[in-house]
Amino acid sequence: MRRLVIIIFLFPALATVAQKKGNPKIYSKLITTADMKANLHTLAGDEMEGRETATEGQRKAANFIENKFRSFGLLPGNNGSYQMQYPVYIDTLVNASVTVNESPFEAGKDFSFSIGASHTASYDFSQVLFPGFGISDSARDDYKGVDARGKLVMVLSPNISGNISPKARRSFNFYTQQQAAMDHGAAALLVVEPEIAEMPGKGNMYVNIYHKVMRINTFFVSEKLAAAIVGDEYAAKKAEALQGETVTKQYEANVALAVDKKRLALHSSNVLGLLEGTDLKDEYVILSAHYDHLGRRGNTIWYGADDDASGTTSILELAKAFSKAKAEGRGPRRSILFMTVSGEEKGLWGSDYYGSHPVYPLDKTTVDLNIDMVGRIDPSRKYGDSTNYIYVIGDDKLSSDLKPISEAINKKNTKLELDYKYNDPKDPERIYYRSDHYNFAKHGVPVIFYFSGLHADYHMPTDTPDKINYDLMKKRILLVFYTAWEMANRAGMLKRDIPLN
Ligand SMILES: [Zn+2]
Repeated sequence: MRRLVIIIFLFPALATVAQKKGNPKIYSKLITTADMKANLHTLAGDEMEGRETATEGQRKAANFIENKFRSFGLLPGNNGSYQMQYPVYIDTLVNASVTVNESPFEAGKDFSFSIGASHTASYDFSQVLFPGFGISDSARDDYKGVDARGKLVMVLSPNISGNISPKARRSFNFYTQQQAAMDHGAAALLVVEPEIAEMPGKGNMYVNIYHKVMRINTFFVSEKLAAAIVGDEYAAKKAEALQGETVTKQYEANVALAVDKKRLALHSSNVLGLLEGTDLKDEYVILSAHYDHLGRRGNTIWYGADDDASGTTSILELAKAFSKAKAEGRGPRRSILFMTVSGEEKGLWGSDYYGSHPVYPLDKTTVDLNIDMVGRIDPSRKYGDSTNYIYVIGDDKLSSDLKPISEAINKKNTKLELDYKYNDPKDPERIYYRSDHYNFAKHGVPVIFYFSGLHADYHMPTDTPDKINYDLMKKRILLVFYTAWEMANRAGMLKRDIPLN
C-alpha cells in the first residue's frame, strides 16, 4: 500500500516538472515589433517630455511602466509597491546680492556664481586683496608678502588673458586660482570675467547631501564691478598683469556679498515588477534598463528613443513574454525581477539606490542583464553584418560560467554577431562603467550589458523613435530573452569568481 501511495504522488510531481520546462520558442513569438513600436513611441513621445529624473515627465513614464507591469500580472516588486522612491535634492536661489561702496550690482549682468558650489552666507568687507591672476605655485607667488587670511580676494580670470604676454603665460585655471586663494586663507573670491552668464534660479540635482567638499563662495564679476573696487587704475593694473608683472595690492572698498539658497527635497523612482519563480523562487534574475533621459529645455525635448526608451521597451517585451509563460504553467524556476530605473543620466542614481537598498538579496541574485541603447546601428562599426550584431560587455568579468552560456544560447537561438569591442579593459569610452549593470557588478553580481553603440544623435534632441531599427532591436531582445530563460531555469546559480562584497 505504502509504495503505491508514493507512486501516486510521484507521477503528478514528475508531470509538473515536465510541464514546467516549457519551450521558450513559443513565448519568444510574443515579442513583436508592433508592441515595441507602440511602447517606444509613447515613452519617447512629447507627453513624457524627455523623462528627466524628478520631473513630471519621469513620473508619467514610471506610471506607464507600472500599469504595463500590472497588466502583465507581475507582482509589485518593492514590498507591495511597484515603485521604489528615492530622494533627490536641488538647490534654489532665494537671494543673491553684491554691493560696492553701497552701490548695488545686478545678478546675471555684473555678477553670477554656481548655485550648487556655493553656500548660504553674507559678508561685509572693507578691503579687497587683488593679486592679479592670483597664481601661487613653485615658480611664482602672487600672494608673496601679503596676508590674505579672512579677506576678500579678487583675481583676473584666465578668460581675460586674451592678450597675455608670453612671459606671463602660465598654466593655471579657475580651480588652481580658487585653490590658491583657499590655501592662503581667503574668506571669499571674486573672479573678474570678460562676460557674465545669466544666473539660473536652480542648481543641478544631487542625491548625496553629505561628503560635499566645501569651497569658498566664489563670484564671477564684471570688469565694471572690478573697476568700482580698484578705481581708476584698474585698466593699468590689468595691463601690467597681462605683461606678467606682479600687481598685488590691497584696496579700500566696502564690499557686501550675500548668498541665500534653499535645498528642495524631490524624489524619483525605480519601477519594479516581480515574476515569482517556482522551485527556485528565492533566487533571482534581474532584467534592467533605465527609463529616464535628459528632459526638456524650453520647447526642445531630448526624446531619448534609443537612450534608453529602447531598453525600457525591451524590458516590457520580456515581461510580457515571461508572464504569459507563467500563466500557462511554464514560468521560470527562479524569480525574475523586471527593473526599470531612473537617475541613470544623472549618475546611475536609481541602480545605485537599489544596490544599497536591495529588495531581494544580492547574493541570491544570479545575474543582471542590463539593456541600454539597443535600437540603432553603430555608424563607426566598419566590419561584420551591421544588421545582425550586438555589443556584449562584462560577461567575463565576475563569473567564468557566464560567457560560454551566453555564447551557446546565441549560437542555438539568435545567431547575432556578439561583438566584444567595448569589453576591452582598455576601452577608452569606458562603457563598462557607464550604465546600471555596474551597480550590480560592484556588489559582485555577474552582469551582461547589451548595447548597440554610439551615434550622432546620442544625447541630442534628434534621438527619436523613427530612427530605431525595430527588426534589429527585436533580434537583440530575443537574445536577452533566451539568455534570461536559461539563467532562470538552469540547475545552479552562476558561480562567482569574485566573492560578494
Ligand atoms: Zn544616456
